[in-house]
Amino acid sequence: MSGRITVDEAAVLWREASDEELQRLAQEVRNRWHEPDRATYMVMRIINYTNVCVAQCDYCAFYVLPNQEGGYVLSRDEVFAKIDELVELGGDLVGFNGGFNPRLPLDYYADLFAAVRERYGDRVEFYALTIAEFVYLADRAGLSHAEAAARLRDAGVHWITGGGSEILTEDFRSRHAKFKYTVREYFEAQRAIVESGMKTTATMVIGFDETLEERLEHLQRTRDFQDGCLADGYDGLFSFLCWTYKPYGTALGGREIAPREYWRHMALSRIFLDNVKHFRTSVLTQNEEAFRALDYGADDFDLPIEDEVTQKAGARIELDLEALLAVPRRLGYRVEYRRAERPAALAS
Ligand code: SF4
Repeated sequence: MSGRITVDEAAVLWREASDEELQRLAQEVRNRWHEPDRATYMVMRIINYTNVCVAQCDYCAFYVLPNQEGGYVLSRDEVFAKIDELVELGGDLVGFNGGFNPRLPLDYYADLFAAVRERYGDRVEFYALTIAEFVYLADRAGLSHAEAAARLRDAGVHWITGGGSEILTEDFRSRHAKFKYTVREYFEAQRAIVESGMKTTATMVIGFDETLEERLEHLQRTRDFQDGCLADGYDGLFSFLCWTYKPYGTALGGREIAPREYWRHMALSRIFLDNVKHFRTSVLTQNEEAFRALDYGADDFDLPIEDEVTQKAGARIELDLEALLAVPRRLGYRVEYRRAERPAALAS
């Protein structure tokens, strides 16, 4: 394969290519950056600091509305205890993720992240917020995306990840998450994160009711965004992580897609998104099946020890990390631990 594929060519590949053909093309792109038999991983914990949320996405089983029973906000000591436990298990990456809680302003988060940075220094890295939460908090603070990014960066934040993206088409947003953000806002905010010197990532979730055309539009918008970053001298998106929708307990309901569809989608994404270096497969939602995606273009994965959001919707977490690592080893991969990078622009 030479050169880029178009959306139309991607649609043909999706409908007509065999699994073997998709694997071969995806591995061709993977091999431009990575040794064919090497895979990297991190041990991480997602800390869901609050489940109170006003966004009301219909695919979410995690949130409760303000003043409803069961809402919580973790105390700082509870957050620290969770991080300490992660460190004891050999992990060094925290992903903070929670709801759009109207009682918690941007300054609350800036103070929390500053306290985490002060206590752990560079021993622990953290994904501070998702772009979705960032858009909400900047808006409520009355700050531009650039101003809000600077506030968080100056508090010691290195990463604002692309989480909360699900499917990035305006139609999908209005069908399922109309209070969350628009696609235009999402990419404007992500660009501000890039320009602030912090690092960011791309994500995608499949398996709702999205069409093939919507999946491809998501990939096209992501590729265009990354082209723009690279053209302007930024690294842009560090990685692309795709996971699958868990329907249990959600208003939307539905069924889970089969692992084979996930692997094929990972391959198609790797072929299409030829300007993103790292492709991460989701052990959180695919368990042992996630590792087969290494044969379909992925090169990296997390071993999560907690994520209440997906666990509430049916995700199962395996804590025997050595047993999990034995699976990619059996597939022929050398697995190596990877530490989260620190943005060069912020290195002291
Ligand atoms: S997915 Fe996130 S933003 Fe949407 S309702 Fe759930 S917690 Fe809120």
